[in-house]
Amino acid sequence: MPLKSILQSLSYCKEFENMLKNSMKEIFISIIIPVYNEEENVTPLYNEIISSLEKKYKDFEIVFVNDGSTDNSFQKLLGLNKKDNRVKIINFRKNFGQTSAIAAGFDFCKGDIIVTLDADLQNDPADIPVIISKLLEGYDIVNGWRKNRKDKLLTRKIPSFFGNRLISFITKVKLHDYGCTLRGFKREVVKNLTLYGEMHRYIPAIASKFGTRSIEIPVNHRKRKFGKSKYGIGRTFRVILDLISIKYLLSFSHRPLQIFGGLGMLMIGAGFLTGISLSYEKFVLRHSIADRPLLFLTILLVFLGFQVITLGLIAEMLTKIYNEGLHHNTYSVRDKIGFENENIDDST
Ligand code: UDP
Ligand code: MG
Repeated sequence: MPLKSILQSLSYCKEFENMLKNSMKEIFISIIIPVYNEEENVTPLYNEIISSLEKKYKDFEIVFVNDGSTDNSFQKLLGLNKKDNRVKIINFRKNFGQTSAIAAGFDFCKGDIIVTLDADLQNDPADIPVIISKLLEGYDIVNGWRKNRKDKLLTRKIPSFFGNRLISFITKVKLHDYGCTLRGFKREVVKNLTLYGEMHRYIPAIASKFGTRSIEIPVNHRKRKFGKSKYGIGRTFRVILDLISIKYLLSFSHRPLQIFGGLGMLMIGAGFLTGISLSYEKFVLRHSIADRPLLFLTILLVFLGFQVITLGLIAEMLTKIYNEGLHHNTYSVRDKIGFENENIDDST
C-alpha cells in the first residue's frame, strides 16, 4: 500500500477517534435510583457508582427518588447532595411504589442516556459502563440479565423463571429477566412512556411497539446485605394482572372491537342459535317454551353480548384518558433538590 494512502487512512482513524471522543464528551448520563427505606445502602451505593463512572465519564447525574422512606434514607441523601452536586433528589410525599419512582426519575432527569438500578446494592454499578457502551453502539434499550441471581429460590427465582417465559411468550419480546431493574435506555425511548402499576418491568415490551432495538447482557447480582426486600409472592399476581393490560395495549388498544367485539359477537351468535332452536320448538312443533331454561340463556347471551361490546369500549376509553390523556402523574413530589429549576409543579 502506498505511504500516502496509509497516512490517509490513519488520519481517517484519528478523525473517527476524535469524533467519538467529542460525541462522548457531549453525552450526559443520568442514573436513576428508586429508594424506599435503604438508609444503610445509599452511601455505599453512591461510592460504588462514583468509582465506576468518574474515570470514564465527565457529565453525569445521580437521581435518587425517595419513595416515601420512613427511615433516614432522605437525610443520608441530603448529605450526599451537599457534598456532590451531581446527586439530585426527588422526594415523594408518600410511598407511591417503585414504578412511580422510576417514572419520576424519567420525567426529571436530563440525560441522553438513562440507567436505572436498585438502591439495595444488589445490582453492581461496575456493570454500568458496559450498558452505556452498548447504548453508544446503537441499541435503544440494554437489559440486565441476573444470570446468577442471589435471591430466595421458592418465592423469587421459581416464580420469576415461569414469569419471564410467560411474559416473553405473550409480549413476543424475549428476555430472560424482566425483573432486573439494571437497565439502560436512550432518552427518547422513555421520555414519552406513561408508567403505572408494576409496569416498569415491561418497558422493553411496551417500547417494542415503537420498533426499539434491545439487547440483554449478563450482569452481576449480589445478596441483599442491609434492609429488607419490599416484595413477596404477592407481587407475582400484580405482575400477571399488568401483563393482561400490557398485552391489551400492545395488541388491541387501537382496535378494541377485535377483542370485545369478538367476544360479544360470539355471545350474540350463541344466543341467536338457541333462539332459532326455541322458535322452531314453539312455531313448528307447537311446544310451550315459557318454562325453558334455554329461553333465559338466550336472553342472557344476547343482552350480555351487547353489554360486553359497549362496556369494553367505554372501559378502554376511560383508562386511556385517565392514564395518558390528562398528563396525570402517578406520584406527587414534595421537594426537588439539586435540580436547576426547583419550583415544584403542584398539579400532581
Ligand atoms: N422500592 C421503591 N418503592 C417501593 C418498593 C421498592 O422505591 O415501594 C425500591 C427499593 O428501595 C429498591 C428497589 O425499589 O431500590 C427494588 O426493591 P427491592 O430490592 O425490595 O426488590 P427486589 O430486589 O426484592 O425485587
Ligand atoms: Mg433488591
